[in-house]
Amino acid sequence: MGSATLRYFCYGCLFTSVTWTLLLFIYFNVSEENQALKHVPIKGLAPYKPLPKRFYPRFNRNSFQISDRHKNSQVRSRFGNHVGEPEEGNSELSPEMGMIFNEQDQKVRDMGYQKHSFNVLISNRLGYHRDVPDTRDPKCEEKSYPSDLPFASVVVCFYNEAFSALLRTVHSILDRTPANLLHEIILVDDNSELVDLKNELDEYIQTNLPSKVKVIRNEKREGLIRGRMIGASHATGKVLVFLDSHCEVNEMWLQPLLTPIKEDRKTVVCPVIDIISADTLIYSSSPIVRGGFNWGLHFKWDPVPLSEMEGSEGASSPFKSPTMAGGLFAMDKDYFNELGQYDAGMDIWGGENLEISFRIWMCGGTLLIIPCSRVGHIFRKRRPYGSPKGLDTMAHNSLRLAHVWMDEYKEEYFAVRPELRNRSYGNISERLSLRNKLNCKSFKWYLDNIYPEMQLSGPNAKKQQPVFINKGPKRPKIQQRGRLFNLQTNKCLSAQGHPSQKGGLVVVKDCDVNDPNQIWSYNEDHELILSNLLCLDMSETRSSDPPRLMKCHGSGGSQQWLFGKNNHLYQVSVGQCMKIVDPLNHKGYVAMAICDGSALQQWRFES
Ligand code: UDP
Ligand code: MN
Repeated sequence: MGSATLRYFCYGCLFTSVTWTLLLFIYFNVSEENQALKHVPIKGLAPYKPLPKRFYPRFNRNSFQISDRHKNSQVRSRFGNHVGEPEEGNSELSPEMGMIFNEQDQKVRDMGYQKHSFNVLISNRLGYHRDVPDTRDPKCEEKSYPSDLPFASVVVCFYNEAFSALLRTVHSILDRTPANLLHEIILVDDNSELVDLKNELDEYIQTNLPSKVKVIRNEKREGLIRGRMIGASHATGKVLVFLDSHCEVNEMWLQPLLTPIKEDRKTVVCPVIDIISADTLIYSSSPIVRGGFNWGLHFKWDPVPLSEMEGSEGASSPFKSPTMAGGLFAMDKDYFNELGQYDAGMDIWGGENLEISFRIWMCGGTLLIIPCSRVGHIFRKRRPYGSPKGLDTMAHNSLRLAHVWMDEYKEEYFAVRPELRNRSYGNISERLSLRNKLNCKSFKWYLDNIYPEMQLSGPNAKKQQPVFINKGPKRPKIQQRGRLFNLQTNKCLSAQGHPSQKGGLVVVKDCDVNDPNQIWSYNEDHELILSNLLCLDMSETRSSDPPRLMKCHGSGGSQQWLFGKNNHLYQVSVGQCMKIVDPLNHKGYVAMAICDGSALQQWRFES
């Protein structure tokens, strides 16, 4: 090449690179997403208005999305039937966060389910800080709150909580509460046995957390009811906020709770309890519902009567609730003491939420749910701990509340639980004199005025029903139907026995177009349903158990399957892929294993 040609060639290169740099510069400055992140107005364009925070994904979303119905249905399994159309919520986490890569991961996951009933592997991977989707109604963002709100002491009682979940609770409060409103966080260790909750927790708090966090240790296990009373007795804030030890508070959660308390100190308030899935830790929005109960004295969610939702603020305005779920609420501290705190004769867990709800309403207070305050809670399918003597504390506590507060209506409870009629329930004289001293109204007044929807058995049963906001649950759409074909063996996934047998195993068999035992449906909720009957399910506790056919529960997790790259079939709550155990064995057993992309783990739908 001559020197002139070389010179022109270099000019050419220079020109091309300058042009490209310019083009890239313009592209990055004009691209909408980039602008959204930079908040800088550009000449010639309309002033930039930032999108609400929820529109910015923080994790790389991959192709798998969990449908809204799925995300919200955890509530159904914890607190009875959920009602109303689930609200929109967006998942910012991949359901593959729980992928098991080695034996250590598997141990963390399996032990975690055993000790805590949720996916501790994902909880640990998330760390102590994360953003959660802002699930509030857009109207909430327009609201303003007084600047001189009373400051709060947050009381979190815990027993054997997973370290990462406890610290995420604490940090979410510190990260999303204005410092001037947060007086302190009081952690009450209810004599946990897990060692990391002792020295490691103290050390972490001493080195990393400001003076606002205090730990109180119970010398013996007291249960959450006395535990909260102990926490409250150490609190020096004006308002008490009680939270479970596996919560994450959302944007602007506290101000809307404190405002009604400031206006009327006898108002007790609950946030909307958003759902953190126990299997995926995905945070999603809860529908707007209120608290009720049944005659077995179990808490349940009810639709909100239309009459409660009227008014200009609609879905964003506080509404009355006959009962509270119990885990999360705020109350003026002096009013908590005046109203008799909790019944100290109640043990461990259960019933205290209905007791305090009845007491609030019957003794002159008000109980509200505040839709603009959102706090996520990990809803578990079972409680991982027992009570010290294996006692049914729920029955003991419910008996106490029935005898103190329910007057002649306790007969309704005994009609459901006749075996408890003559069961002893300890001394309730102090609680009876409290009721007397506070001059509380009758349970009949409560039913007539606060919960007229409650159905009575017997001749006085009311038939009238109020108008509810209730669109009913959606059925998930079927996305694929056909045989599930294993690429290595050319065999099809099938029920081992009859497809309607609950708990039955699945195996691979020679494919047969006419065999209904081999016809699977895959729906938008990622359930695999055999012959329109049962769902393919993985036990929540041990990833080494084989998948089984179980009743479809609609709560995701153990029945959620994802087809991934390499045709693998990934199980969300187990974090592993389905494979054929031994291709030469004619029994065709399948099991879960670390996803490795091998042909034994490859499955394809064939219509
Ligand atoms: N808890 C406690 N002592 C107990 C039982 C429970 O301190 O003996 C705590 C527990 O760690 C949690 C709260 O009380 O922070 C509520 O318990 P849980 O979450 O199991 O109840 P659920 O949410 O299922 O109603
Ligand atoms: Mn809880």
